[in-house]
Amino acid sequence: MPQTTHPAGRGRDLSVMTLEIAGAASTRTLSAVLCPREQRAKPLDDCLPCVDSQGEARDPGARPGFVECLGEGPARAAPAREPGDPEASLADRTPVQAVMTRVVIAVQADLPLERARALFLERGIGGAPVVDDAGKPLGILSKTDLLRAGAGRPGGTVADEMSRNVLTLPEQAPISEAAALLAAEGVHRAPVVGREGRVVGIVTVLDLLRWLAQQDGQLMPSGHSLQAR
Ligand code: SF4
Repeated sequence: MPQTTHPAGRGRDLSVMTLEIAGAASTRTLSAVLCPREQRAKPLDDCLPCVDSQGEARDPGARPGFVECLGEGPARAAPAREPGDPEASLADRTPVQAVMTRVVIAVQADLPLERARALFLERGIGGAPVVDDAGKPLGILSKTDLLRAGAGRPGGTVADEMSRNVLTLPEQAPISEAAALLAAEGVHRAPVVGREGRVVGIVTVLDLLRWLAQQDGQLMPSGHSLQAR
């Protein structure tokens, strides 16, 4: 969970997760936090009125910012094992929300391909979910899609090149399921969706490798704000 104990000892600072959506007309950002009480991504607009919310960080230098939360976590920190499955591995018991990238750059279907290309270069990303106005996934645009488009006719929009076969994972899916999905489908990334069906993160092959290396005691940078590759 993206949280630290507040220096004053009153609550926890929860990192704000962002979904930045680049569209033809404008770019906007949807924000959420991982609620410790509900164990799910909660839109910031629903979190801030909560009685346990102490508000967003006021420090303009705190990016992507945080919310101080006085809420209690659940009795258990990881998903319960399946009945009759005493051998469930750590990968079976760790939710994908623990390793996913939480600062996501997404595009809309009407974005011109030239602008998508510039965005990928500028932000150093190798792929992005294609989402609707509500942040729900419609497809995936990869660097390969953009290269293919570049070899053909000029012009066009993301809708012309994106893959519409979008494979998503629920935020509580175990890491083992994420690994199985990426390996079986031969893809490098899959959007993670919250209860409302909105993209709340993205998990990549590198996120899973980083987690694996951490379990082996290797010091790894956090992938929570990285959507590169
Ligand atoms: S302030 Fe309330 S809604 Fe927001 S994360 Fe904490 S417990 Fe959840």
